[in-house]
Amino acid sequence: MASPAALYRLIAERDHHRCAYCLITEENCGLQMHIDHIIPEVAGGTSTADNLCLACFSCNVHKAAQQSGTDPATDEIVPLFHPRRQRWIEHFAWDESNTQIIGLTPCGRVTVAALHMNNPTVVRARRRWVAAGWHPPKD
Ligand SMILES: [Zn+2]
Repeated sequence: MASPAALYRLIAERDHHRCAYCLITEENCGLQMHIDHIIPEVAGGTSTADNLCLACFSCNVHKAAQQSGTDPATDEIVPLFHPRRQRWIEHFAWDESNTQIIGLTPCGRVTVAALHMNNPTVVRARRRWVAAGWHPPKD
């Protein structure tokens, strides 16, 4: 079993030093990222690389032990985005100002809402990063 520091490095490098949900970079965030259990430990999720991703404080705290949510457009209960099994670009997009994340699918919409991915604090910060040319990610 890898040490916590080695595991962090592995996950951070694989996730390009970005939150796997809102794509905030470690540099823009200015805070230590968290290692998120995609399937929460309380639901049987393991601490193995395929169930871990990098997550910013805000996404990690809002996600907590949630695994699903109600799609605001259809009222259906759908699973949250799974960064290891799904591709971000298929479920999310930036709006024209590049400051708000749009959920393109039920999974995307549920995840944007559950993780508060467009909270006013981060939207204000994104506005500044866009002006500085630090956002959105190019890939
Ligand atoms: Zn995030």
